[in-house]
Amino acid sequence: MLATLPACPTQAYIGGHWCDAEDGRRFDVTNPATGAVIASVADCGVTETRAAIAAAKAAQAGWAALPAGPRGAILRRWRDLMVERADELALILTRENGKPLTEARGEILYGASYLEWFAEEAKRIYGEIIPSASANNRILVTKQPVGVCAAITPWNFPNAMLMRKAAAALAAGCTMVAKPAAETPLSALIAAQLGIEAGVPAGVFNIVTSTRAAEVGGELTASPDVRKITFTGSTAVGRLLLQQSAATVKKASMELGGNAPFIVFDDADLDAAIEGAMASKFRNAGQTCVCANRMFVQSGIMPEFARRLAARVAALKVGDGEMAGCEVGPLINEAGFAKTERLVAEAREAGARVLAGGARHAAGELFYQPTVIEGVTPEMSVAQEEIFGPVAPLIGFKTEAEVIALANDTIYGLAAYLFTRDLGRAWRVGEALEYGMVGINEGIMSSAAAPFGGVKQSGFGREGSRQGLEDYLDTKYMLMGGL
Ligand code: ADP
Repeated sequence: MLATLPACPTQAYIGGHWCDAEDGRRFDVTNPATGAVIASVADCGVTETRAAIAAAKAAQAGWAALPAGPRGAILRRWRDLMVERADELALILTRENGKPLTEARGEILYGASYLEWFAEEAKRIYGEIIPSASANNRILVTKQPVGVCAAITPWNFPNAMLMRKAAAALAAGCTMVAKPAAETPLSALIAAQLGIEAGVPAGVFNIVTSTRAAEVGGELTASPDVRKITFTGSTAVGRLLLQQSAATVKKASMELGGNAPFIVFDDADLDAAIEGAMASKFRNAGQTCVCANRMFVQSGIMPEFARRLAARVAALKVGDGEMAGCEVGPLINEAGFAKTERLVAEAREAGARVLAGGARHAAGELFYQPTVIEGVTPEMSVAQEEIFGPVAPLIGFKTEAEVIALANDTIYGLAAYLFTRDLGRAWRVGEALEYGMVGINEGIMSSAAAPFGGVKQSGFGREGSRQGLEDYLDTKYMLMGGL
């Protein structure tokens, strides 16, 4: 229960104040490992969203006027506090999300790394001076913050998805209104509290907690004062937010669903491929948008790859994320569990064979056994839909051309992985894959230094790296005449 949790705010944070919803509504946050209620949080609606937008608007000019040095120093302090209190934040994260404590701690450090990165990058928002066609003037190009940004974030990385948006936006000189997922609001609230301690001024960073996602999202997208929407979540909600944002012609960054191919060629280093598969597939119980979703294995190594992967998967330690040595926690909710169960059942009915797992785990209601299925074909639902569960479907292939076509045969284009020791093949396939990110002989590729993002219906915009800052900047051209 709450008493055992580190102290964590449970109110919304608007304009520098912790506050409840005007109508007094609250919602429960539960631990997916046990079903226990761990907190009751303010359930905001339109009124609070409007107040948060107004606060962010009022703070915008002052924050943008602060030079990059002091702005970065605040972000750096925020990062330091997050690192100092990583254990506490990790426990809150595990309680509301379910992931193993070691992964939760890793996520906190990963989230903090965006604050560090953008605190430094803020100093390098360069413009340029371009020679004009005419002798008596010069073309000046500068970058300015886009203004008030709205962020809507998911439950699978409740700290990191928020921090990589907030760090970039604030570094660029933008203010923000963020709506975390209702499953995991506490990680956002504790992050906001550390932001206050670090010196983020009132109104610059606001958190609207809510179960009324459509209402809050409707207000954020309808407001002409919100100049940008940044979203991480499902493609369906992303489409809706884009439609809604059209009326006020907002800038947008969309980090949406994926259907990542994980391709292992006969010439791969099998040890590396197995390690990569374990990391890419089973992190966060398979609930990441870059998780390997279709494992394409070339025919020459399929039997050995399948046998070794199944043995590793069967040995994974499943349980409450707080359990020592835990490697796989519960799924986030009943809908997530039911989807995983359905996809495995449908694959079985269509002729696929379960090599490991394939049923509910004894650890509890929302736990699914880490699973490997072989004999999967591209038409099966498990290969068509984003699984978001600990299930590895193995699909055989014979040639490079065949697997490129199969891998690209999806509306998604977020992450792809390929394992080969042939340098020419690595280049050829890496370039041919229609994905925003390609891991070559690596199963994990996220980093604050790298541009994270997708193509096709996985979205657009990049988070992290120099490009991550560009997404929060407008280009301004001034013509300097009278020379
Ligand atoms: P998931 O199915 O993984 O929960 P969603 O795309 O539904 O993914 O959720 C991602 C985020 O989008 C969450 O913060 C959720 O509350 C929010 N969300 C869901 N529906 C809407 C909506 N209609 N408008 C705005 N935000 C929404």
